[in-house]
Amino acid sequence: MSRDPNCIFCKIIEGKIPSMKLIETEKSLAFVDIGPCAPGHSLIIPKYHAAKMHELPDDSLADILPVAKKVVIATGATEYNILQNNGRMAHQVLHVIPKPSQEQGLVVGWPSTKPSKEELQKVCTFTSHIQVYEKLLSQIPK
Ligand SMILES: [Zn+2]
Repeated sequence: MSRDPNCIFCKIIEGKIPSMKLIETEKSLAFVDIGPCAPGHSLIIPKYHAAKMHELPDDSLADILPVAKKVVIATGATEYNILQNNGRMAHQVLHVIPKPSQEQGLVVGWPSTKPSKEELQKVCTFTSHIQVYEKLLSQIPK
């Protein structure tokens, strides 16, 4: 398992910082957010430290969403947001944030832009890179 001794979430996983655990699996830990923006606001973290989602092993990624699903069901939230941050200290935390009203829960600013059709089509070329990457991966002996 990848760990960062300076990461608060790694310290929570190791039990050096206490948490109110909700669910724990071999690869993930869910616990109550101590600064919730709505009742039931919870965090789900992989036990593998990674600053960015694409740095996580696939088995950690596969484990974390079913845990998030169980947390959502447990909160009883009928509307909610899932927030995931990427960055140096992110540790790939998933926030489950119930949205019981317009005033409670996650508030998101969404600065829309108006790109040209050509700019939007450039995004489609990214998928061709993914196909090349997957083809290369399939050629690696397992
Ligand atoms: Zn960490």
